[in-house]
Amino acid sequence: MPDYHLESVYLADGWRREMLVSIDENGFITDIRAADQSPDGSRGAEYVAGIVVPGMPNAHSHAFQRAMAGNTEYRLSARDSFWTWRQAMYALANRIEPDELQVVATQAYVEMLKAGYTSVAEFNYLHRRRNGDAYQGANALWDALAAAAQTAGIGLTFLPTLYQSSDFGAQPLKAEQQRFHFPSDAFLRAVEAQVRQDHGTRRTGVAFHSLRAVPLDTLRAAAGALRGMDPAMPLHIHVAEQLLEVEACQRHTGRRPLELLLDTGLLDQHWCLIHATHATAQELESVAASRAVVCVSISTEANLGDGLFDTRRFLELGGRLCVGSDSQATVDPAEELRWLEYQQRLRETRRGVLAAADESHVGTVLWRSAAAHGAAALSQPAGSIAVGRRADWVVLDAEHPSMAGGALDTSLDRLLFAGGRAALRDTMVAGRWVVRDGRHAADEMLRADFGRLVARLTAE
Ligand SMILES: [Zn+2]
Repeated sequence: MPDYHLESVYLADGWRREMLVSIDENGFITDIRAADQSPDGSRGAEYVAGIVVPGMPNAHSHAFQRAMAGNTEYRLSARDSFWTWRQAMYALANRIEPDELQVVATQAYVEMLKAGYTSVAEFNYLHRRRNGDAYQGANALWDALAAAAQTAGIGLTFLPTLYQSSDFGAQPLKAEQQRFHFPSDAFLRAVEAQVRQDHGTRRTGVAFHSLRAVPLDTLRAAAGALRGMDPAMPLHIHVAEQLLEVEACQRHTGRRPLELLLDTGLLDQHWCLIHATHATAQELESVAASRAVVCVSISTEANLGDGLFDTRRFLELGGRLCVGSDSQATVDPAEELRWLEYQQRLRETRRGVLAAADESHVGTVLWRSAAAHGAAALSQPAGSIAVGRRADWVVLDAEHPSMAGGALDTSLDRLLFAGGRAALRDTMVAGRWVVRDGRHAADEMLRADFGRLVARLTAE
């Protein structure tokens, strides 16, 4: 691997200019030093002009939903909600074949890389053939997602998702949910086989779809077995996204979903709670204390009319927060983080709400902490540019109007608040360039195939 001479970089300990970075054959950073201190200068190193910042882990993705983004925005009325959107999502979920999933997921992952995401947690509940039969041997849908990540060159935390009931009280699955079903024993065996295939930038975790879809006893038993398999396995769950879900949970159990989950005593730093939108102050305090990470996908939550997460309170409690692209309506970590702050500004009629006491650069604070907590949620050894971490980074064009003329230490603020997304030029994952000058090797293939697939998959 060549060394890289970085013109400007945001390291774990701050902004630096003219640094030399060494990377081993597995893509891990082995050394970082000032370029002018090295014995033979930067000879032989690849010079990287621009501003290098840590790549963002995407803590929540349903790649197949990329095929319907934008397609549920017409013929809307005030009666539409998450629940009517879900019907359109089920129609797609029941139509897509593995080869199509591979193309759609490749498109989603390439877009993520171009937007600054360098790894993705794929929360996947597509398990069965379209007719509802289980795959014997290799699961073509799972393999399609792994192949897509491989083609795109994105780090993958694959999260096979347990999904067994349609509502609280272990209600049987509906016809349109049959493709998601997996009995627990077979599921655990399949996960174990996935773990054995982990290598390079790929990591296996597990998701529980929600407390609606996984009865609490089943969740407890499976989580115990998984902890036996791997004590640090990432475990994710959708929770408290919708008010109707909170009400149904209360009706059936007398408890709110987050209360129920917290009461299991299972939550720790290896859990990631997706949404947690409708959380009480007490629940936020307990979640923060558990060290579980919360993933807010504010663009999807806005799109679906879910509600507002109390980001300010959670961060003040020391909560660990990261972001995700979820339904793929927006694939842009800078936009996710910008709206976390804007939501607070609109609500509190002031600025800089999420700036930290010791860090007034709100864009820097948000990017740095979401990258670090996102990496933890994915259990990927990335999230900052430091020795021992994987070289997952993105390069901003310092000449782009959103960056030009600004002080180096405002680069991440500009990325979030001055249209800096357009300045994103190159992306590296595990020491390999996967996007150069905004282009990816799969662009041609995707241009030919993706549109045709969207037309077929969303035809009426
Ligand atoms: Zn989701």
